[in-house]
Amino acid sequence: MTSIRPATRSLYNILREERDRGFDDTAVIGGLDGFLVRHASDLEPYLGGIASYASLTTDERSEWSRQTVQRMREDTSVSDRPESAVPSHGASPRPKPKGQSRKRPPPDRSLKLSDDVTLMKGVWRKMQPRLESIGVNRVGDLVYQFPNRHSDYTRIRKVAQLSPGEDQTAILTVWEASQTMLGRQKSTQAVLGDETGNVRAVWFNNPWLASRLKQGSRVSISGKVNVFRGSLVFQGPECEVLDEDDDLLHTGRLVPVYSTTQGLSQRVLRSLVKRALDECIGQIDEFLPQEVLHRAGLIGLRDAIRQMHYPDDWESYQHARRRLAFDELFLFQLSVLSRRAEWKESGGALPLRVEPSTLDAFLSTLTFELTGAQSRAVNDILSDIETNQAMSRLLQGDVGSGKTIVATAAMLAAVHNGTQAALMAPTEILAEQHFLTICRLLDGPGFEPAGGSIQTLNVPGLDRKLTVALLLGGQRRRIRDDLTSLLSAGLVDIVIGTHALIQESVDIPNLSLAVVDEQHRFGVSQRAKLREKGVRPHFLAMSATPIPRSLSMTLYGDLDVSVIDEMPPGRLPVRTRFVENERRDAAFEFVRDELDDGRQAFVVCPLIDESEVIQTKAAQEEYELLSTTVFADRSVGLLHGRMSLEEKEHVMDDFKSGGLDVLVATPVIEVGIDVPNATVMLIDGAERFGLSQLHQLRGRVGRGAHQSTCLLLSESPGSEALNRLRLLERTSDGFRLSEEDLKLRGPGDYLGTRQSGLPTFRVAEITDQDIVTLARREADRILSADPDLSRQEHSSLSTAFGEFNSRLTGEHS
Ligand code: ADP
Ligand code: MG
Repeated sequence: MTSIRPATRSLYNILREERDRGFDDTAVIGGLDGFLVRHASDLEPYLGGIASYASLTTDERSEWSRQTVQRMREDTSVSDRPESAVPSHGASPRPKPKGQSRKRPPPDRSLKLSDDVTLMKGVWRKMQPRLESIGVNRVGDLVYQFPNRHSDYTRIRKVAQLSPGEDQTAILTVWEASQTMLGRQKSTQAVLGDETGNVRAVWFNNPWLASRLKQGSRVSISGKVNVFRGSLVFQGPECEVLDEDDDLLHTGRLVPVYSTTQGLSQRVLRSLVKRALDECIGQIDEFLPQEVLHRAGLIGLRDAIRQMHYPDDWESYQHARRRLAFDELFLFQLSVLSRRAEWKESGGALPLRVEPSTLDAFLSTLTFELTGAQSRAVNDILSDIETNQAMSRLLQGDVGSGKTIVATAAMLAAVHNGTQAALMAPTEILAEQHFLTICRLLDGPGFEPAGGSIQTLNVPGLDRKLTVALLLGGQRRRIRDDLTSLLSAGLVDIVIGTHALIQESVDIPNLSLAVVDEQHRFGVSQRAKLREKGVRPHFLAMSATPIPRSLSMTLYGDLDVSVIDEMPPGRLPVRTRFVENERRDAAFEFVRDELDDGRQAFVVCPLIDESEVIQTKAAQEEYELLSTTVFADRSVGLLHGRMSLEEKEHVMDDFKSGGLDVLVATPVIEVGIDVPNATVMLIDGAERFGLSQLHQLRGRVGRGAHQSTCLLLSESPGSEALNRLRLLERTSDGFRLSEEDLKLRGPGDYLGTRQSGLPTFRVAEITDQDIVTLARREADRILSADPDLSRQEHSSLSTAFGEFNSRLTGEHS
């Protein structure tokens, strides 16, 4: 068995990466060509005489890559390798059967948007799975398959005006075209010209084109020209034979570039979209009322869809985008606002009244006084829940601002009314932390956890014992069954848990208050499910810094907002320092000094992988290393997501009681641990975290009377990453950071991710704040005139709204 050369293996991986990135030549920094040149001696046999990868078109790259992989597979030294080392390139290595088409029924009727895409001319059977993989099943999906960008081929030039390196278009006559071998690849070359001169064009690995370029025919050529041996050459340009009846699709205009998949070329997809548009656009009906179009200054829907694909110019494109983004945001606002109205106006909630003195009896036992902002939030909540209109409130406050106590006071109010309250948290660690914290708050400082998932407490001001339970997915079956039967018998007053709470089997008959912590980590329908327990519970959502305040108020417009904008007194701001790699040792030395002073420290491992298995392994290694070197003489603990609940609990208790000096953790501790004596948060590989995430981690320290420090370690941050870390050094305002995060990491991370709890928008972006505002205003207007969209002039809108809502529910279930 011959062994595979490292360069060959690298090339496999690179090509696989290229394929995933749509062959955009970004898998290797600086481009693939440099790599090929460096390893030419090893790789030469496989490369098929390629001259330059960079100069190939996407289709050619894809084809070349497929062949290269095939050559490597065929090589004996490679075929010994396990399959996994060789990326499959989708298409089978066998030559494609030529011209084998499926019999399709004669077109006895015109194409419909709702038709299966396979009914379209030009869609072969093999294309169906490829289309499906980019979300195209029906003809209508093609229409809404908007391009990622456009190539600007609008600069039409004469040959004499062509300049190297720019995208440009020339309308040329074919003088001569032939098949030729370029390197080892069958290719096409042509000489074309106009009255100002001639230019050569080559298409690597595309011998078929030659026959289409008939001598004397007129073609439109778009792409970049390069200088080759002193003369101009178009390398792999887009090419269209001009025919009087057809619009230009691929050249001479703003040409759409779609996100596509292996085996489905831009050209093919473009033509399909164009055909779908041409044949079916007339079936798309305007659904926005005229008054809205008019007031918001929007173009019509058909026009917008067309221009979104094939804009006349950039301005038209902007108008199209604005219209389509508006549609999404407008429908979203309609759904948010109608939900809010429904929630508010229908009443039916249980009024929860408490005498101020009742809560005071409890609050006065706390070791601290509420801040002004906390008191205001408590009052907001108490006056909301007094009525029979269900509360819908968002409690926003930075990490450490003290949201838990506010939620606890609210839940206690529910208990005083003889009803049940529930709090849902996104992770088991956080749920458990809440469980213990809330028990401690309610029972007073002397609280000793009796162990187990049920606590019975004596709460000041309450004339009976109070029962608090913890419900988690990871609990043993028997325990969960016990808990659920206690819950449904109404014998649990306050239940804290994870998603386990919203299971069908969990019944909370007297639920009058539902609290969701870190609400942005849940989807719309998950939050809704908790609200469906009990009759019509009041609802409180809590959030640290999911998205900027200005925006969240608009986007989560179904909620009233209370903001805790004040930190508990006596907190020293956490000092934050970026530590260069050379000074790593000094950072750990600093940690040792703090330990010498009796403090404790967190060490967070780099965020290396979404996979908990890999993440855990990294944490274990870091733990081994630290506990045998720098901290060999200290007690070090390890916390990771794959530990059982008992194990986690044990480690956290150990750390909290001071039994451990250092806690090495995967990024799971982002939420949930409250240890005032911990004064150092050391984050390794800090460049891999988002700003908000780092800020959350940092919020784990600085909770006691001692000055705390957050150390950001990073091996080699790029300048952008460095800027982010520097910003963290200067800023302790979580909202500011989440706004920066948005700007730096782009909207993609927020809108349209499940993270945000918002739907996936095709066109709208979070930076479209003015459109968000406009959409909200218009939605408000329409709904106040016609709350259930029942008027005749709103019938198309009502249908569109229904479809949007079912998509929304589909996404989050
Ligand atoms: P978060 O808003 O991040 O959920 P927590 O509710 O966990 O914040 O509170 C953070 C810490 O601050 C806890 O240790 C809590 O006991 C403490 N705390 C909350 N409110 C006050 C206050 N008014 N004064 C002093 N400490 C407070
Ligand atoms: Mg919290």
